[in-house]
Amino acid sequence: MSTKVHDIRSISLNELNKFVVNNNFPKYRSSQIFNWINKCSVKSFDDMTNLPKSLIELLKVNFRFNFSKISSKQISVDSTMKFAIKLHDKLIVESVLIPSGDRVTACVSSQVGCSLDCEFCATSKLSRMRNLESYEIFDQIMLMNKQSIENYTHAISNIVFMGMGEPLLNYNNVINSINLITSDHGIEISNKKITLSTSGISKMIIKMADDNVKFNLAISLHSAIQSTRNKIMPFSKSFPLSQLIKSLEYWYKKTKRKVTFEYLIWNGINDDFEHINALVKICKRVPSKVNLIEYNSIDDPRFSKADELWVNNYLNILKENKVSASIRRSRGKDIQAACGQLANKH
Ligand code: SAH
Repeated sequence: MSTKVHDIRSISLNELNKFVVNNNFPKYRSSQIFNWINKCSVKSFDDMTNLPKSLIELLKVNFRFNFSKISSKQISVDSTMKFAIKLHDKLIVESVLIPSGDRVTACVSSQVGCSLDCEFCATSKLSRMRNLESYEIFDQIMLMNKQSIENYTHAISNIVFMGMGEPLLNYNNVINSINLITSDHGIEISNKKITLSTSGISKMIIKMADDNVKFNLAISLHSAIQSTRNKIMPFSKSFPLSQLIKSLEYWYKKTKRKVTFEYLIWNGINDDFEHINALVKICKRVPSKVNLIEYNSIDDPRFSKADELWVNNYLNILKENKVSASIRRSRGKDIQAACGQLANKH
């Protein structure tokens, strides 16, 4: 473990123990280093002031701080801002800040690209290059928070894992980043203000429930009929709705928190009563609310936004069945910052 690309923040206490002992320093030095990183958030080895100079030099040779940088910023007519964030290996992810009244929501990425194949999403056209490390997700949110204060005069009030990538396919790093960001080492934001969005990896939903996480869960459902879902989100053949629903029932039993279903309505795909009834049925099984999201075109002729009539049919029938539902209008469309449009176009 002496490759310099290793960010010191990704090294566990155990590994640090081994490193210091192998280099003939007393073991307690590893806890000191660990504290500097995890309790004091130092930004350089020279700031670890209680370490001997020789150990600081050794750390410099073996590790580094792989900070990320903002490489471009675009501002929408509606004040939404999209940032390209350059990682230490020059790969890029995007984050979006969405102001609304007193609130600023940060939409953050969990992977570089995405391995899923949702046909209607621009990010799915980029192949998945790699997972983000927890410190990279943490840095991304810290950078966004600074921008939020500078541009909108207040800190981030909400975080949504709805940027690039599938957070449940990078579970450990996402959870660690949330632990860091909610701590006094981060921005002390409450878990209640954080939402993780997944396209529905049932096994990981069960794990999250068992891990007793405190943040909110949103599911990109888009259809409650398996054959339709297979067409628009082909990966879901391996993650069937029957298992997804069971995992969500389990989530509710364990956490007592409702899930949010994210739902797009397209012409000729799910704009009919059969799809509405199937959605109602699922919402009756799983305590939930529905967000009808406006589709943002990615110039694929197979997908076009359904007629407003169908959006109203969905809304009315869900409400008649006592399911709470609302429409989420898109933000930042003119700069390709809206849901499903993140594709590194600057
Ligand atoms: N992989 C996770 C996180 C991405 S969240 C997930 O699927 O939940 C991005 C959200 O935007 C998802 O609900 C996704 O289904 C939705 N989305 C994707 N493409 C879209 C588009 N073209 N217009 C509107 N929403 C879209």
